[in-house]
Amino acid sequence: MKKNIGINTICAHVGAVEDEQFRGAVSPLYMSSSYAFQDIDEKRYPRYFNTPNQQALSKKIAALEHTEAGMIFGSGMAAISHCLMAFLQAGDHVIFQQTLYGGTYNFATSQLEKYGISYSFTKGWQVEDFEKELRPNTKIIYIETPSNPLLTITDMSAVASLAKNKGVITMIDNTFASPINQNPADFEIDIMIHSATKYMGGHSDICAGAVAASKQHIEQLWSSSICFGGSLSDQTTWMLERSLKTMGLRVKAQTENALKLARKLDAEGDISRVFYPGLESHPDHELAKSQMNGFGAMLSFELDEALDAELFMKSLKLIKASMSLAGVESTVTSPVLTSHSLMSPEDRQKQGIRDGLIRFSVGIEEDEDLMYDIQQALEVVKSKTALV
Ligand SMILES: *Cc1c(COP(=O)(O)O)cnc(C)c1O
Repeated sequence: MKKNIGINTICAHVGAVEDEQFRGAVSPLYMSSSYAFQDIDEKRYPRYFNTPNQQALSKKIAALEHTEAGMIFGSGMAAISHCLMAFLQAGDHVIFQQTLYGGTYNFATSQLEKYGISYSFTKGWQVEDFEKELRPNTKIIYIETPSNPLLTITDMSAVASLAKNKGVITMIDNTFASPINQNPADFEIDIMIHSATKYMGGHSDICAGAVAASKQHIEQLWSSSICFGGSLSDQTTWMLERSLKTMGLRVKAQTENALKLARKLDAEGDISRVFYPGLESHPDHELAKSQMNGFGAMLSFELDEALDAELFMKSLKLIKASMSLAGVESTVTSPVLTSHSLMSPEDRQKQGIRDGLIRFSVGIEEDEDLMYDIQQALEVVKSKTALV
């Protein structure tokens, strides 16, 4: 592959299965779960992650993330858990960034100890926060940037060089940025993990995961993943390949929308704070600029204290309240009512997550329509608040 091939060309072309028989425009879908083994170079089996469709799509993932190799999984959590288990053994220690995706937090706190693996959560997301948690047996540093739900930014180069000096592997959950807005391999991060359920799928109809890394790391991941068995079905693999063709277009449109919305929300009287790395007021705006191609399409905002977040979400007409994110349709969620509901109010307060916080996954709709929807919902909340 030519090194300077553009992102949308990768999306549209790299990692397709050639239709040599009929010369069709799209990848044929091979549904076989059984392949010949005699007189054949490679023993193929869906759980070996090497059916024609799985193998082709892995190449696309690698190209998108500027790495030598890639793998796809049955879910984002399969990708995350298989990655952690591939590189950890009893006696090892992992450092997780404090602001961690809920499922990963649950995996760490409910699974690792029974395998004799210890872990720490950082107190913040500065490189010193990671350094403080280092132990002689630390094997992995695991980061998320931009993070959920407050869109904090971690300095990828700084964490990567801290880790490299100590022989520690770095992993990033790159779901929020997507490969369109951030390529951590260019900043020396070792292993990129995605919930492909989000921007890679992009239409809220696929559950999948993806990993990109060096050939050596992927070989190690592969050899333990065939034991854990978290492979992706070929039918979903085919759908994911189709979705990825438009990822560049979708995510660019969503990212542009998010910046417009962030600015409008920032100027809105009933909204007290907006968290978006693309705003000059974001504390790590310059860092985000230096390591991202775009600021992403996730943002959060805080309603004025007097306004009820649940009523606000119920009053939205176009934007749906939803658990997931990253589809072409805009969605909102309340971290206090969903992802962070099990955390004590004091702990939430410490992390800066207030009751009026709304996480906003910006879609491809016209930005005027989205803003109108938010404003009419604010009016409904205000009128009902006044009546009480
Ligand atoms: C959704 C999500 C995951 C988990 O992915 P699944 O496909 O639901 O297993 C992991 N990390 C982040 C940041 C996510 O948003």
